[in-house]
Formats: sequence, C-alpha cells, structure tokens
Amino acid sequence: MTWRADVLTLFPAMFPGPLGESLAGRALRGGVWSLAVTDIRAFGLGRHRAVDDTPFGGGAGMVLRADVLDAAITSVARAARPLVFLTPRGRPLTQARARELAAGPGVVLVCGRFEGFDQRVIDAHGAEELSIGDYVLSGGELPALVLLDSVIRLLPGVMGHEESGLEESHADGLLEYPHFTRPATWQGRDVPEVLTSGNHAAIGKWRLDQARAVTLARRPDLYAHYIASQGPTP
Ligand code: SAH
Repeated sequence: MTWRADVLTLFPAMFPGPLGESLAGRALRGGVWSLAVTDIRAFGLGRHRAVDDTPFGGGAGMVLRADVLDAAITSVARAARPLVFLTPRGRPLTQARARELAAGPGVVLVCGRFEGFDQRVIDAHGAEELSIGDYVLSGGELPALVLLDSVIRLLPGVMGHEESGLEESHADGLLEYPHFTRPATWQGRDVPEVLTSGNHAAIGKWRLDQARAVTLARRPDLYAHYIASQGPTP
C-alpha cells in the first residue's frame, strides 16, 4: 500500500525538493509513498487570484483567507488521512507522532505564508496543528518537508536496516549513545575500549548508560519523562 501525501502550498515548485533525493527519493520512485501537490493560488479570487487579506483587528501582514483555503482543501480526496496545518502555534512534532502517521494511510498538509491562516478554516475542519520547533520560519513548506522526511524514513522498506529505526534518538525516550567507526585511533583519540571488546552485553549496558547520561545532561525534560515511563524500579 502506497503511503499518500498531499501538500497544499503557494509554492508547489518546492516539492518534492530534498525528498526527491536519497532514501526518500528512491522510495517515491518505487511507489512506497506518493506525493500530490495542490497550488493554493489556483483557488484564489478574481483576476489576481487573491489568496490573502488584511487581518481583522488590524496589525501588520496578511492572512490566508478561509474561503480560498477551504476550496483548496475540499478539492483533495482526503479519505481517512489526517489534515495537518503547519503552524508555530501547533503541538510540537514528535517521533511518536511521526510513527503514528507512518502507520496510517498518509497525510494532507497545509503550508502557511504571511501571518498564517484564518483560524476558522482550521476549526471548521477539526484539523491538527503541528509545529516543528520554537522558532518562526517564513512559510510552512520547510516544516512540511521536515514532517514528511520524519515519516517517510519510517515506512517499511525505506531504511536499509529495519532495526536502524529502533535504537536511534527519541525512539525509546532517550537521546542516542555516541557512534564511532574506523580508524580505532584518530589524532590520539581512541574509541571507547568496550566497543572493541566483542562483549555484546557490556556494549549494550555502556550504550544505555551513555544514552541516559547525555539525555540527563542535555534534555532534562526528556529524561524526567523517560524515568516516569520506566515505572517503579524493583
Ligand atoms: N504569525 C505567525 C507566524 C507566521 S509564519 C505566528 O506568529 O504564529 C508563516 C507560516 O510559516 C505559518 O503560517 C506556518 O505555516 C509556517 N511556519 C513558520 N514557523 C513554523 C514552525 N515553527 N512550525 C511549523 N510551521 C511554521
């Protein structure tokens, strides 16, 4: 079954962009996922195909019109796919949400521009809002590409090793342990001895200890969540 992505944007030429390369590009050409892009401008009003207007209440910038966006959204055969608006006000995108989306039939993404969307079109569709981080970009296209990349690499058959999605950062609530490869000594720096010991139990323990330590140091918020999810220690 092909995982289906629809993207609504004022800049269709930005797609598939980086997702046409490497693993995602091969999976796109191989039919693991498909991409349909809708130009919001095609639903614009009047001779100038206007898609935005000034905000009620005043203030700087322009707002994407609910009627224009609604026409673009209803032109897409959404079926059971979630409808997601990319906004800095949305819930943060997480690895867990990426995993859920990968397990479903696909997604319909709406990319904002200017000051963003008329809130009524989001509410009317009961749509989800997702943010890719606590900073503001000039449009929703890069966030849509980020979201799609996080999902596509999880689709069956996209990554080389099925297990490489299981141990990485955020998979189990921890950041990942550090990696090392040849040469064993580089500029006077040796790789940690345990990694060349061949003792898989010791390696596993070292990696878990490292993952816990780096998570505690860098992301105490994630660490607290991880500890709470482990349940009481016997
Ligand atoms: N006035 C808005 C920002 C608009 S930025 C505010 O203060 O919340 C223009 C568009 O870029 C948004 O509509 C959204 O689609 C996209 N965008 C910007 N930053 C984003 C982020 N961190 N996550 C997701 N989308 C973002």
